[in-house]
Amino acid sequence: MGGAQAGGGEPDDAAPFRVLPALDDENRFFWTSGQDGCLRFLRCEGCGYYLHPPSPRCPVCGGTELAPAAVSGRGEVFSFTVNHQPWDGSTEPYVVALVELPEQNGLRLTTNVVGCAAEDVHIGLPVRVRFEHRDPVWIPLFEPDGPAEPAVP
Ligand SMILES: [Zn+2]
Repeated sequence: MGGAQAGGGEPDDAAPFRVLPALDDENRFFWTSGQDGCLRFLRCEGCGYYLHPPSPRCPVCGGTELAPAAVSGRGEVFSFTVNHQPWDGSTEPYVVALVELPEQNGLRLTTNVVGCAAEDVHIGLPVRVRFEHRDPVWIPLFEPDGPAEPAVP
């Protein structure tokens, strides 16, 4: 695949593969929403449409009365790729996924699926959100939302 080459920059040794988002007034609520364990999207108060990524105006009705609204945090894998690029030789293959949320057709989030082996991820896999706190943000990741399993240390 002719993907973009990372142009020779040194990996950031503090964060093996995550580039933390730059917060601004539009996206701050999204990246700090996990503080209370809840995933939120900007929602139009006029027609109820969820906007992701955040935008100043609803694309459906043109409304500008928008407010963060909590969603269930559950979804399913819409598509995914497994990244085998070894960062510092220490990172297991990880899964970059597009997770679709049940609240709205087409409401999808680019994220990582964690908490299971990369080969266990498949399209349609039910997942639920789990936040990773990387000050000052809470990164929404997803893990399989299966039946309760014994805790693994
Ligand atoms: Zn609207």
